[in-house]
Amino acid sequence: SASLADSDPEIARAIGLELGRQRDEIELIASENIVSRAVLEAQGSVMTNKYAEGYPGRRYYGGCQFVDMAEELAIERAKRLFECRFANVQANSGSQANQAVFMALMKPGDTFMGLDLACGGHLTHGSPVNMSGKWFNVVSYKVRESDQIIDMDEVAELARTHKPKVIVAGGSAYSRFWDFARFREIADEVGAFFMVDIAHFAGLVAGGAHPSPFPHAHVVTTTTHKTLRGPRGGMILTNDEDIAKKVNSAIFPGLQGGPLMHVIAAKAVAFGEALRPEFKLYARSVVDNAKVLADTMLAGGYAIVAGGTDNHLMLVDLRPKTLTGKAAEAALGRAHITCNKNGVPFDPEKPMVTSGIRLGTPAATSRGFGVAEFRKVGELIVETLDGLAAHGDEANAAVEESVKHRVHELTRRFPIYA
Ligand code: PLP
Repeated sequence: SASLADSDPEIARAIGLELGRQRDEIELIASENIVSRAVLEAQGSVMTNKYAEGYPGRRYYGGCQFVDMAEELAIERAKRLFECRFANVQANSGSQANQAVFMALMKPGDTFMGLDLACGGHLTHGSPVNMSGKWFNVVSYKVRESDQIIDMDEVAELARTHKPKVIVAGGSAYSRFWDFARFREIADEVGAFFMVDIAHFAGLVAGGAHPSPFPHAHVVTTTTHKTLRGPRGGMILTNDEDIAKKVNSAIFPGLQGGPLMHVIAAKAVAFGEALRPEFKLYARSVVDNAKVLADTMLAGGYAIVAGGTDNHLMLVDLRPKTLTGKAAEAALGRAHITCNKNGVPFDPEKPMVTSGIRLGTPAATSRGFGVAEFRKVGELIVETLDGLAAHGDEANAAVEESVKHRVHELTRRFPIYA
């Protein structure tokens, strides 16, 4: 049959342009990465044709013997990678992984605790616009105003007062380690399940560059496409057989129908890559690069929320330069440095404006950037944003154009999908 370019030139063009964008720009969105050709190939495979409701060996459809091989490999590799007893690799996304755990462990109206969205939590940790906030009674904990770090005494006090069924750790914009042991102690004291959403730092855990949530967590959820460098998707891990059974029923038939077998095959490939020794070097490098980037921003007169980073990401507080996240994201975008505006804790600006940008190192580290390149990236960001602060939105065009040329010098030295 015809190639994509012949049969649908409009979509082929969009994909080609997106590839060009990824090749040319420096990707600093903390939740993104650049997958291997092997992952792309598995995801673009004939396994997309197959219905396989159920679990390996117990399917509701015939002809599942080969997709079973893929799913069994994905499960085995996930368990080895995170050193746990059970893995569900069918969750279509991180959000659905979280929904499944909530469905497994709570009833609508039950109380759970999570980090406030405005302090770095995720929408699915109880935001009022998300199902988690509409169907459950949410008690959010925050970071301290003084040092922007989670106040474990406040977590303990809230837990004692509200007696949640589940306490969630993990987030999307928190740059420090989590005190998993203390969270578990608090959960045990009030009879709650302790869930850790490691979506952001899963690859660092897998690569040994971040503490593992096990053995403290009762259940762990993650995405597979961020630091873990796999296809877009979700996963649930646990050591508890009863929780594993409930989670499996919550994913299917509770929330999903046929699993995305092509994505599961690609997850298996990514987990196989993460089990190799090189992945440890990658994870270490992601963290080293983030420290250098944070230090370069600090040296340029910008503030880093919580004073720095222990993982792959940081929130840059732009208020010392009286810039907004919205203006900064746009200026950096014109210079071909991609990031996202992000509220800082207790941000006085609206969510569509914000006082911060979130920067992450996983994607550019995958293309080979090391500490020298990240110091350069930090300097280019400072130059662009200082230009914006000095000249305003329109007059900064010359600075942005000049930075863009230097961005292209860097990205050309580290080609992707060449
Ligand atoms: N959990 C956390 C901590 C996240 O950061 C994200 C994604 O940003 C999710 C869950 C949701 O993942 P997905 O976008 O795959 O639904």
